[in-house]
Amino acid sequence: MPEYKLVVLGSGGVGKSALTVQFVQGIFVKKYDPTIEDSYRKQVEVDYVLMILIGNKCDLEDERVVGKEQGQNLARQWCNCAFLESSAKSKINVNEIFYDLVRQINRK
Ligand code: GDP
Ligand code: MG
Repeated sequence: MPEYKLVVLGSGGVGKSALTVQFVQGIFVKKYDPTIEDSYRKQVEVDYVLMILIGNKCDLEDERVVGKEQGQNLARQWCNCAFLESSAKSKINVNEIFYDLVRQINRK
């Protein structure tokens, strides 16, 4: 079976770990344990980067700060990629995110 390396990027606390753990283990991590990581930045342009923009925590509709249309527009502007809203808590679009990425890789 092929192995894929996917990268999840975003500000601290947006739910990257929770989404990944929900996808891999099927459980929702309630506690916020800031992930420690090194990061190095170098700006390069490599043909077409496979990406999908995620708006997580869509279960918190009352606390919404980014509109759906705003998310779609950002995805178009930044990467001309798809935009999906997800919830690691309510299991919304968790599989879809990772499946979509793997499909994009397979199509390459
Ligand atoms: P990371 O820094 O991006 O890895 O963020 P975490 O995955 O650690 O999540 C930060 C906090 O947000 C944790 O308390 C999670 O339980 C919570 N969280 C993550 N995803 C969701 C979600 O979809 N809905 C809600 N309500 N909370 C979430
Ligand atoms: Mg984390």
